[in-house]
Amino acid sequence: MTSAIVGWCGPVLLPAAVLLATSVLLAADSNRPEEEAAAAARESLKKAHGAGEAARIDRGVAQVARFWRPEDGDAAAFRAFVEAEFVPTGDPKDAVFGRLELALERIDGYFLSMSRDLRRGLDLDLGPLLPLDERLGSFEPAAHLSEDLFKSKLAFVALLNFPLTTLEERLAEGGGWSRRQWAEARLAQRFSTRIPAEVNAGLTQAYADAARYIADYNVYMHHVLTADGRRLFPPGLRLLSHWNLRDEIKARYADPEGLAGQRLIAAVMDRIVRQEIPAVAVNNPLVDWTPETGAVALSAVTDTPAPPGARAEARPDREADERYRRWLGVFQAERATIPYYPDEPTLVDRRFNRGREIPVAQFTALLESVLTSPLGEKVGRLVARRLGRPLEPFDIWYGGFKPRGKLAEAELDERTRKRYPTAEAYAADIPRLLRDLGFAPDRARFVAERIVVEPARGSGHAMGAARRDDQAHLRTRVGPQGMDYKGYNIAVHEMGHNVEQVFSMTTIDHTLLQGVPNTAFTEALAFVFQARDLELLGLGEPDPAALHLAALDEFWGTREIAGVALVDIAAWRWLEAHPAATPPEFRDAVVGIARDVWNRHFAPLFGVKDVTLLAIYSHMVDSGLYTPDYPLGHLIAFQVVQHFRTLKGPMGAEFERICQLGNLTPDAWMRQAVGAPVSAQPLLDATATALEAMPPAMP
Ligand SMILES: [Zn+2]
Repeated sequence: MTSAIVGWCGPVLLPAAVLLATSVLLAADSNRPEEEAAAAARESLKKAHGAGEAARIDRGVAQVARFWRPEDGDAAAFRAFVEAEFVPTGDPKDAVFGRLELALERIDGYFLSMSRDLRRGLDLDLGPLLPLDERLGSFEPAAHLSEDLFKSKLAFVALLNFPLTTLEERLAEGGGWSRRQWAEARLAQRFSTRIPAEVNAGLTQAYADAARYIADYNVYMHHVLTADGRRLFPPGLRLLSHWNLRDEIKARYADPEGLAGQRLIAAVMDRIVRQEIPAVAVNNPLVDWTPETGAVALSAVTDTPAPPGARAEARPDREADERYRRWLGVFQAERATIPYYPDEPTLVDRRFNRGREIPVAQFTALLESVLTSPLGEKVGRLVARRLGRPLEPFDIWYGGFKPRGKLAEAELDERTRKRYPTAEAYAADIPRLLRDLGFAPDRARFVAERIVVEPARGSGHAMGAARRDDQAHLRTRVGPQGMDYKGYNIAVHEMGHNVEQVFSMTTIDHTLLQGVPNTAFTEALAFVFQARDLELLGLGEPDPAALHLAALDEFWGTREIAGVALVDIAAWRWLEAHPAATPPEFRDAVVGIARDVWNRHFAPLFGVKDVTLLAIYSHMVDSGLYTPDYPLGHLIAFQVVQHFRTLKGPMGAEFERICQLGNLTPDAWMRQAVGAPVSAQPLLDATATALEAMPPAMP
């Protein structure tokens, strides 16, 4: 299973069982009775199949032995199993491969469509949400699938006959593999770890605790005061940390009076990172808080109902490292899985080697190629010039490069509402949209027949299928007056996911290679569609000036989130070196790391040292090293979008070819897709070109 099933366009937290499924062996215990049985089985299998199969027999029997537990059977059962289920190369092995490929497609495919059906009330706009909908939505039919595949010994058949590979092998040799070899590697990889249910339950619990903490971490901004007692924010404004706080900073660039508010939000973020925010100021409109002095007072202003648990107490006591306690909880739960990954004992190794399939050293070098580029200083000077003042730390979130469209959003709303009064109207237009994007009429029809459009309860998402005879689902928001421009823009993005999902599942050669290397790739392919949404409304192609601004925006945004990812990685490295750390010790470490990364890569541009803002990201706390996916996503998306932008002729056939590469390693995928490994070079080149095209500075 890959992350390509659902294009959620945000963090996708896969079930732990899926995240943890890939390659490595448990250390064999040579004292176990299975060792003798294994030796006997190897001998009799070699006698039966000849020396040509000896290497496969040794490896296959060892792979089974490493995952076999007492409850799977005694030594005699072990021997009987491997002797009966090993198949020699040629027709017998081809037949086993074919059966397993089809079986796993059907198992995953039906489970996925069942989950989708159970989630209808939660995901679709079907009227009021029932408490039952939440219950049905969290019911996971495939929850025990991984262990059931071991118990039924289907997993052992795969491990006996197909090779487990390491990331090093896939990177070094994968370039020369056939498609079938890749499919065999993915087949075995699916069973490369077996984590006991209670360890998985501990993981789920720790992540859920951290997520609950984050989900309620709101700041009531009308109650955050300047040092001279002013309220800069409107009544009722409640901002969730960090997303809403950051987005409010971005939004205030359009406001000539926005600077004071931006400074105040940056101060709030700093107090959260350093845990100097008063506990009573979190999620509470009953008290006023002055970040500059730390003062807390009962508020005389009632602007919004207080949430349950909010206390009317003017206590200045700080939050006392709750943020770092939750983060440590995730770390400790992850530590409990160490015995099941002997070759990848740290979460850093596991997330990069298994999840992203990019070694962490290569990844860090990729980010540093952006952060150390001399373009940073040039773009920084340009930002300061456009702002008309020296840079301040929160300008890492400068949003002023967003190109302004020719039409106001209200005019765009009018057009899209008229064209798409209902979800059905959008569905009916899909073949035309695909033809205009450059797909041949028969391919446009083929894809359109495999996409179901439905009205979403939330902002929209794309859910792919996991069996060839199922359909991809496009969920989009359609208001009572029709689809507004925002909804349309998202629908075009999600349609890009759906087209990728159809080609990478239905027409791919091996369903074991279904999908894309990781979430960043399906997002990249969706952006290729989304970038052409105005063109599809008949409003012409984006002009070069808009493309230059978009490149600068992308560079500045990638630079910021690359800094965040480096802080996240360094924080986990620190935890691995200090597993017994207390929350205050961990807090001090993270604050120090955030300042170090800032001083190295941002202070030279900003002229300010020791800033902590890079550590504000909430997903550092609740998602276990997820943030590196953001800069990776930016770079991969830019590389893929540039490939299509420079393509001569219609893009349909090329889009289909690239989607059918499937779930290779990121580098192998990128080489076959665009002819180069994953790289920041296309972004750096476009940024340099954009800088040259900017009007010169006023004297
Ligand atoms: Zn998306």
